Amino acid sequence: MIYFDHNATTPPSRKVREFIQTGLVDYWANPSSEHGFGSKLADKIKEDRLLIADSLGVSTKGIIFTSGGTESINSILSVHNLESLKIKKIISSPLEHHATLDRLNFLKKNGFEIVLLPNNEHGRVDLNVLEDQLNSSTLVTILLANNEIGTINPIKKITQMVHQKGGLIHVDSVQAWGKVPLNLEDLDVDFASLSGHKIGALKGVGILYVKDVKSYLPLMHGGGQERGYRPGTINAASVHSLGLAVQDINLEKMHEVEKLRNYFESEIQKLSSIKINGFDSSRLPNTSNFFAGGRLSSELMFELSRKEIYVSTGSACNSGSFKPSHVLKALGLGDKESKGSLRISFSKDNTFDEVNVFINFLQNLIKE
Ligand code: PLP
Repeated sequence: MIYFDHNATTPPSRKVREFIQTGLVDYWANPSSEHGFGSKLADKIKEDRLLIADSLGVSTKGIIFTSGGTESINSILSVHNLESLKIKKIISSPLEHHATLDRLNFLKKNGFEIVLLPNNEHGRVDLNVLEDQLNSSTLVTILLANNEIGTINPIKKITQMVHQKGGLIHVDSVQAWGKVPLNLEDLDVDFASLSGHKIGALKGVGILYVKDVKSYLPLMHGGGQERGYRPGTINAASVHSLGLAVQDINLEKMHEVEKLRNYFESEIQKLSSIKINGFDSSRLPNTSNFFAGGRLSSELMFELSRKEIYVSTGSACNSGSFKPSHVLKALGLGDKESKGSLRISFSKDNTFDEVNVFINFLQNLIKE
């Protein structure tokens, strides 16, 4: 099998794999139980929280465990949290993940003003328009890195602009974690969403980071877990896997991944009518999105899948339906280009040999 779909999800990291094989079965206690069995897990979670907070450059106070990126994003964008923060206008971009865009649609129907910033053909958002739209009752919610084309937004600059006008900023950092340096304190963002299964942890765990937790109104009420900010019995095994996965992050190796991605792109550009989407912008080192020359990407994906080569036609979350990707449309691509584009997302486990095998198959498929 050749797996080139790491932006959809990652295999368990080395430490997480060991945990699954040797420790997971004993990890079923309730960490809120007061007896020794529960409190042992509570201690472990304390250690994991510290490792995770360290990985993000923040203190443990702002870390709230959730079920994943989607829950974190929806929690920040809940009506009563926004109302309590006195937010009236939300500024975002058409390149966001559906977790954000679908939520924004809902908020629009509920009376919030929603502004989507224009972007250029490489996926860079227009910061002049942002400047004009900001005020003290705005929340900006924006991706750090795009899941489909990998474009990286200048978050530090955006945060400074937002704070100068007295607004707040939430950053969907799901795709950036583990791929590029990420220090939330340095970025100075107010809120961030992160997901475990994109960095080698088990599914079902994510992070909601809140700089000033006292200002955050939680979505749910219940047993007081996560200091009341996210009640419900804590998913101890997944949280522990996240504590292990952050120890396996290796940003040095991402330089190697970037070399692999660049090699891949220079080789495929030798094939006729291939065009890289979002090429001329700061991008994640592992991601390549390209127009494959005219055949439907869904067909290519199925053919490749038969050979056990796994790639994506867009974001995995909407790949059940083969509508043109909203991200590629926002870049200005027509139906033919967006329905004919593939996303490849590498990891440190991929090799040059795998890339060569893939290019060979692709070449034949395109010729057919
Ligand atoms: N945000 C981005 C940029 C993503 O890529 C994803 C998942 O693909 C999400 C949010 C949702 O995260 P989760 O799958 O943890 O709900």
